[in-house]
Amino acid sequence: MNDIEQARKAVRDMGVRLLQTGLVVGTWGNVSVRVGEKVVITPSGANYDLLTETDMPIIDVATGAFEGAKPSSEKGLHLEVYRQRKEINAVIHVHSPYTSTLAAARKELPPILDDVAQLIGPSVRVADYALSGTEKIVRKTMRALRGRMAALMANHGAICLGRDLEEAYLCCQVLEKGCKAYIEAEFLGGAKGINRFEAALMHQFFLRKYSKQWEKK
Ligand SMILES: [Zn+2]
Repeated sequence: MNDIEQARKAVRDMGVRLLQTGLVVGTWGNVSVRVGEKVVITPSGANYDLLTETDMPIIDVATGAFEGAKPSSEKGLHLEVYRQRKEINAVIHVHSPYTSTLAAARKELPPILDDVAQLIGPSVRVADYALSGTEKIVRKTMRALRGRMAALMANHGAICLGRDLEEAYLCCQVLEKGCKAYIEAEFLGGAKGINRFEAALMHQFFLRKYSKQWEKK
């Protein structure tokens, strides 16, 4: 995405979509997209239904300086993802129901479904608990994200990454579905894991396949 105005609209529309699909309730959750050296992010306390695209602040990735409305209090985490992960162009942070259940239990999501392994990686780790909006939570979450496209955040929610906004959204949906399947399979006598090595291979294959499609665009 090259154009700031286009990115502002996409971020606002995604906020509404997250509310409509139940991945976010109230004003929790936030969305950002990278545009060159800048990031467009949802504002602090965003009530997506009432916002227009011009309400979306713009932040400089290197300095953290922003223009427009006050950015989301979780901007530090978004910025660190863009600094450390050059391939990532979109970040969505959600407090969705099943994801929150695993985050509350501080349980990682093991490799139990092919789609989770392909898109996110061979497991979805839980970042240790730290207070929201602090440097500590940024550090702990970045560690949990190593080699993964998502991480759970203890007693909080999850962060999902994408090489574009649609991929980040898909990541939120697949993670939520994976957490639901895991919880319910445990009630059916226990979830059965797939081989971790094969799960890691699936993820590598997915990343490469998608890159080729992406380059063609
Ligand atoms: Zn949050």
